[in-house]
Amino acid sequence: MDFVGSHILSVDQFARGDIDRLFAVADALAPFARRERITRVLQGAILSNMFFEPSTRTRVSFGCAFNLLGGDVRETTEVKSSALAKGESLHDTARVLSGYSDVIVMRHPQEGSVAEFATASRVPVINGGDGANEHPSQALLDLYTVRQEIRARGRTMDGLRIAVVGDLKFGRAVHSLLKLLALFEGISVNLVSPPGLEAPSDVVSVLSNAGHEAGVYHDLGDGIHHVDILYVTRTQEERFASPEEADRYRGLFRVNEAIYTEHCEPNTVIMHPLPRDSRAQAQELDEDLNANPNLAIFRQTDNGVVVRMALFAMILDVVDQVHDHARPVTWYTARRTPSGLGTRS
Ligand code: ASP
Repeated sequence: MDFVGSHILSVDQFARGDIDRLFAVADALAPFARRERITRVLQGAILSNMFFEPSTRTRVSFGCAFNLLGGDVRETTEVKSSALAKGESLHDTARVLSGYSDVIVMRHPQEGSVAEFATASRVPVINGGDGANEHPSQALLDLYTVRQEIRARGRTMDGLRIAVVGDLKFGRAVHSLLKLLALFEGISVNLVSPPGLEAPSDVVSVLSNAGHEAGVYHDLGDGIHHVDILYVTRTQEERFASPEEADRYRGLFRVNEAIYTEHCEPNTVIMHPLPRDSRAQAQELDEDLNANPNLAIFRQTDNGVVVRMALFAMILDVVDQVHDHARPVTWYTARRTPSGLGTRS
């Protein structure tokens, strides 16, 4: 695909070569994400960050990524503070906002809403999550992290063994990640969920049609054996008809140090798109794993910035100009090299 000027709405847009090119740009931008150098290549450009659902990481890291390239960010964070609350259509909002910005990131609770918005936008639109459907930038940063962690352990993406655990029915991050993994060779996926929260059949078909192994598990211990990556997700309570219905699933699968040690290999990497639900009744990823060097969740969140910088640089066609606008930082910067990247001895 040609990234320049494109909307990013679904991972279905990407071929493997596109991912390789994006990740090469992300690697080149890493010194800027780590504040070793600054660049002003997007000085004067405006990002409209429109989040009509709760978000911490996606919203802030898209904003930071744009700022780190020198651009400015305008935020709208609730339907009630936008004209959508007065009955304005997505079409009209898109026409208006695209007159004020160079690129738009949008999150919205309805599946397909971001694509609908993009049809009326005059500037590129990036899907920051549309209901239970997709979360393409999360999948890209997840894949970038998988690649980084796997390489650090002397392995390759092809032949990867991964378990995805939790609410696979409503988890949009999982949907996008599974479809991206299908681009590689010989992937084996364990789909581990409580009965009733299995992954949608269209997502699983993408894997099986590409010749990958996809096994369904309802037992946590069985499902997380012999994998390189253990990817845990929370129950997506906001997608259930009622809180009581979500409560039926909360806390059913809890990965903690004891479960990990009993069932996983010593170097199995632990990931989670976050937020993890740390309330007593949930705890799908226990805080007793915090000291485990294979816990990659904060390396994952760090990678969100650099991958989103790469997306902006490619969409706005400034990849080749980044260094012309670069200089060393002038303030104190903490070390931001990935902490704890490595294996357990
Ligand atoms: N932050 C991710 C999302 O927005 C995962 C989650 O919320 O559970 O989909």
